[in-house]
Amino acid sequence: MISIPIARPIITEDEIRAVEEVLKSGMLAQGRVVEQFEEAFAEYIGAKNAVSVCNGTIALCAALKNLGVKQGDEVITTPFTFIATANSILHQGARPLFADVDERTFNINPDDVLEKVTSKTKAILGVHLFGHPFDLQSIREICEDHNLHLIEDCAQAHGAKYSGKRVGCSGVGCFSFYPTKNMTTGEGGMITTSSDEIAEACRLLRNHGDSGKYFHTSLGFNYRMTNIQAAIGVEQLRKLDEFNEKRIKNAEYLNKHLKAEGLITPYKDEKVEHVYHQYVLKVEDDFPMSRDIFMNRLQEKGVGCAIHYPLPIFKQPLYQQLGYDDAGCPVASELANKVLSLPVHPALTDDDLRYIVEVIGDMA
Ligand SMILES: *Cc1c(COP(=O)(O)O)cnc(C)c1O
Repeated sequence: MISIPIARPIITEDEIRAVEEVLKSGMLAQGRVVEQFEEAFAEYIGAKNAVSVCNGTIALCAALKNLGVKQGDEVITTPFTFIATANSILHQGARPLFADVDERTFNINPDDVLEKVTSKTKAILGVHLFGHPFDLQSIREICEDHNLHLIEDCAQAHGAKYSGKRVGCSGVGCFSFYPTKNMTTGEGGMITTSSDEIAEACRLLRNHGDSGKYFHTSLGFNYRMTNIQAAIGVEQLRKLDEFNEKRIKNAEYLNKHLKAEGLITPYKDEKVEHVYHQYVLKVEDDFPMSRDIFMNRLQEKGVGCAIHYPLPIFKQPLYQQLGYDDAGCPVASELANKVLSLPVHPALTDDDLRYIVEVIGDMA
């Protein structure tokens, strides 16, 4: 019985040896290895500072909080993303305002962002969804014109590039190292920023506002990463480009061989390097079966697949309870009914790829 998972981290002897070393050292919590991971990550992204935290959600919360987002403020974001993006805004007591997305890139649409700017808007939180960078140039211009902060949710785009530069170095970048992401530490997160002030505020927030040994200058939390996680991160970062190259190759193979009426393969803008966190098809009405039946049949044949995401965030029960209505983002609503993610992760073999194409060929 064939079974191809939708995502799978690649962990080798390198990670195991690095973790073993930390375990044997006795220095398990935040320490030298965390610092080493942060330095390597900052250099890789091309940001002056990188501050690690315990997960990507906390990276977003820390960025928003330290940019001064608070109760009464609005933050414009995309409704077509993982829930953590919007929830991080709610956690500040602020209100997410949803701008619609582009039907090709699935990313926030700058024209609609402009429509949503009000006097209460404090920041724009864009997501480089599925590994395809959003229109950073246009969003940056809107931020400059309206004096707004820019936060990049890079949780799905480690190593992706926009106009030759890696994402996470334009605004405040927020990364996740959950096991399904392009690189992992088990759980983990990182904030990247050119601002020393924001970086220092994040360091204080993650460690109870400790600015010297047991000298607490602000109200913080325990949001720390451990040396154990960082040891995995250092090894994963070394292989990130290789992982991403394999994702790109896998995506290109699928693009080339999935030629069926009613199946639309992922779009890629000329300005970007897409790192295919997910490989997302659009299943149109002229495909021989509905998206949901297609997904079930693929799963029966052992091809892992998933819907990212079945609901735009404003249709989630939580947001309905908060009084959000369904109007205003028709593209996001339509995409939620059409998208289907296929495996594209670097652990796929040539046989896996051939099998996926063959199974879909039989159904199309
Ligand atoms: C994974 C993810 C997050 C949250 O990261 P965690 O490490 O799971 O907290 C935030 N935003 C997006 C777009 C994500 O995919």
